[in-house]
This record gives sequence, C-alpha cells and structure tokens, in this order.
Amino acid sequence: MNTVIHWFRRDLRVSDNTALHEAAKRARTVIPVFILEDAWRTGPDAGAARLAFLLQAVESLRKDLAELGHRLVVRAGQAEEILPALCRECGAQAVFASQGYEPQARQRDERILMSLLNQGVGFELHKDAVIWAEQEILTQLGTPYTVFTPYAKAWKARPVPPAKPRLGPAQGAAPDLRSDRLPATVAKGTQPLPPAGELAALEQLRRFMAGPVRNYGRDRDFPAVAGTSGLSPHLHAGTIGIRTVLAALKQAREQAAAAQQASCDVFLNELIWREFYTQVLCNFPHVVKSAFRPEYDRLPWSENRAHFQAWCEGRTGYPIVDAAMRCLNATGTMHNRQRMIVAMFLTKDLLINWQWGERYFMQQLVDGDLAANNGGWQWSAGTGTDAAPYFRIFNPVSQAEKFDPAGGFVRRWIPELQGCPDELIQRPWENPLLLSQSKYPRRIVLHEIQRDKCLAMFKAVKK
Ligand code: FAD
Repeated sequence: MNTVIHWFRRDLRVSDNTALHEAAKRARTVIPVFILEDAWRTGPDAGAARLAFLLQAVESLRKDLAELGHRLVVRAGQAEEILPALCRECGAQAVFASQGYEPQARQRDERILMSLLNQGVGFELHKDAVIWAEQEILTQLGTPYTVFTPYAKAWKARPVPPAKPRLGPAQGAAPDLRSDRLPATVAKGTQPLPPAGELAALEQLRRFMAGPVRNYGRDRDFPAVAGTSGLSPHLHAGTIGIRTVLAALKQAREQAAAAQQASCDVFLNELIWREFYTQVLCNFPHVVKSAFRPEYDRLPWSENRAHFQAWCEGRTGYPIVDAAMRCLNATGTMHNRQRMIVAMFLTKDLLINWQWGERYFMQQLVDGDLAANNGGWQWSAGTGTDAAPYFRIFNPVSQAEKFDPAGGFVRRWIPELQGCPDELIQRPWENPLLLSQSKYPRRIVLHEIQRDKCLAMFKAVKK
C-alpha cells in the first residue's frame, strides 16, 4: 500500500506496537493520527485525572514520533466522522488500529468499518493490548473460563510472543494535514500525576524489575511500601506493551534467586488477572450493566446517599477506608489491597450497590479500566465470576492492622489522627477522649451489625 493511517488509541507508544508495526511493514507512508473522542471528556465514566494522564502521553508520543520524522495528526470529535474524512484528505488506503475490547468501542469500530469499506478503505484491527484475546483460551468444552486458576494454567501453557520492533524513521514526506492543539487540562486533586509517556513507562518497568519484583510476593499487600509495579496507568493507556513487560519479567526471573522467582510468578499472575477480566468483559458483556450472576441483580441495596458521600470523601470513621479514599481523591491512585477494602466496605458494610463504587472509581482513577475495575468490584461485592463468596467479608480493622500495622499509610492521609498511638490508629473510637478532641468523624456504621445485615441480604436472594 502507498499510504495508510495508524489510528493511535490505547496504544500510545512507538515500540512493541503490533498494529503500528504491521502498518509500517505494509505501507510506504504511515500517517499517525490521534483522535480525542468526546467520550473521554464527557462520558459518564470520564475522569479528569485519567484524561490528563492520557493527554500527557499523547504529547510525549508526538515528540517520540517527531524524532523519527513522523508528524502526529491530532483531531478532536467523533472518530466515525473524522476518520473517513481524513482518509479522503490524504488518500489513505487503510486504517490500522489496536483491537479494543470494551463493548461500546467495539460497536463504534463496527460502524467505522462499514463506512470505511463504503469508500473502499480497509480497516484492520490487530491484537495488541493482551497476549491472548477473548476466544483464544477456552475450556475443553469450548466455553470461556469463569474461574481464574484454570484460566491462568492454560494461559501459562502457551508461549508468549516476543515484543515488536520499534517504529523506524519516516520514509519520504507525508501529506500536510491539519493538526489540532490538544486542550490543556489540569488534573483534579492535590498531588502530581504519575509521569506519562513511553519513556516514563519503560523507566518505571526498569526500576521495578531491578529490585521490587523480587519481593513482590511479600510486599505487594502493604500500601505503605512501594512494593508494586505502578504500571497500571501505562498498561491502560498503552504507553507500554504487554510483551515488553513479560520479556522484562522473564529476564528478571532468570536472574533472581530461587526464593525470589516465586515473587516473579506472583507478579505474572497479576498480569494474567488483567487478561482474565478482559476476556470476561468480551465474553460476558452483560457485566457492564449488571451482576455476572443475575440472581444478585435482585439484591435490595441501600440508597443512602449520605453514606455514599461519606465513603467518597473519606469520612466513614474507619481510618483505613478514609485514608484510601482521600488518597484516591488527591492522587487518582489507590493500592490494590485498599481497593478491596473500600469496595468491600461500600458493598458489605454500607450495603450500597457495587455499581455506585465502580462508577466513582472510574471517575477518579488514573488507571480506570472497564474490565479490571468491573472485575475488581464484582469480586469484592461477591457478584462476579471468580468472586469472593458473599460470606467472606473483610473486617476493616483487622485488614488495617494486618496490612498497615504501624498506621504509616493512615497517618499520611488523616492528619486528624496524628496524635493517636499506634495501637489505636486503626480503631480510634476506643479512645473517646482523643476522638472528642479531634475533628475525625465517628463511625457511620458498626461493622459487626452491618456484617449480619449483609449476610441476611445475600442469603435471602440465594434462597
Ligand atoms: P501490580 O500489583 O504491580 O500489578 C501489575 C499489573 O497487573 C497491574 O498494573 C494491572 O495491570 C494488573 N493487575 C494487578 N491486579 C489486577 C487485578 N486484580 N485485576 C486486573 N488486573 C490486575 N486495575 C486497573 O488496572 N484498573 C482499574 O480500574 C482497577 N480497578 C480495580 C477496582 C477494584 C475494586 C479492585 C479490587 C481492583 C482494581 N484493579 C484495577 C486491580 C488492581 O487494584 C490494580 O491493577 C493495581 O492496584 C494497580 O497497581 P500496580 O500497577 O502497581 O499493580
């Protein structure tokens, strides 16, 4: 082909990019295009922090492409209108892009395919964000997996493909197309976002693989320790390729002592969870709007808006929950252990529908990802595929005492509890004098009572 467009979506990088690599292999001129779609700015799940991170990643991509002699064409609006028009402007014979897995994006791609075909232009989607896509790993009965462990076993039995080479320098001049300026956005919150872009992602990967991965199995549950990779915003925006991450992990594992190799394997499992939930979303798209197990759509959730507001703002009176929510609001990030704790608290202590929490997370998280977020929420609520059984309910105090024993994380986010001794930091109500002198709120519910209510609610529906 003479001229094609590579439409950058959630694959904002020049290395290990399957669709971009394919486009460059098959066409003399590749025109890189990014479209700032309206849904990213105004959809119900749009989030200011995630958008800001994404736009910084696009800016970084623009520079990386320019160094290779490519000019990124930026447009804002509806991809369905912009792409066919762009193809006419530049005479592109095909559009290449990375396959998306979210139901709405797929429907949009179907419509784009039809309109491009009508004008004689090809539309090629290439698997890129995951190693194995929706129908590639099936049970012996040919059905999708709904339990993680056998899925992970089947996943590990297959060879992982190598990373794709980096995009080469531009060959010849590309048509001079209009490129819009990206809007300047200011991320909500008080703390800077994690650095965006491909270089930042590679540096983050390098740092993690040089040390923390070896103790990941031990450290990953402690929010006060920097024991996890921090790669989720990059994996979501596609500023790093999954094959690159897996190649680095393989190398780190080969260089690690036997005891540390187990940590590398725990990390691999987490990357497989990401693919597990992606295939759940593809194969069971009803999870976007309802419980994976339909009987749980009948749960009589509480509609207590004051409780929900207190949860959102970190004012429940449970320090570990409040610290996690305040951290989310200020930084757009939250540690995995705390995501589980606050999600269980919303659904099993406040008895509020997991979908309220799911949406709030999407609006706040830098790494907000429909598949992983939905999977995490349904797991915590007990309504999902591989869900924790409904009767397994986290006690926020014992979780806190186990995973933030000295209260290091709580102290960072709850200044009202600065004077509280370590042994009471996770249950300050046991020191009424201190609580009366502090502005920290009293508990809005009592865990022991709510736990029984929750069990009764689930039992009634199960009957
Ligand atoms: P690491 O521990 O270093 O893990 C490496 C990578 O594996 C992550 O970057 C992520 O891509 C993947 N991963 C790890 N755990 C999971 C998991 N349980 N499910 C799917 N993928 C996983 N993750 C998101 O990327 N986006 C979300 O919107 C999201 N929402 C969540 C909501 C809830 C209620 C829960 C319980 C979990 C959610 N997770 C989500 C999963 C997990 O919390 C984050 O992936 C993790 O905290 C990101 O930090 P990290 O990159 O340091 O992870």
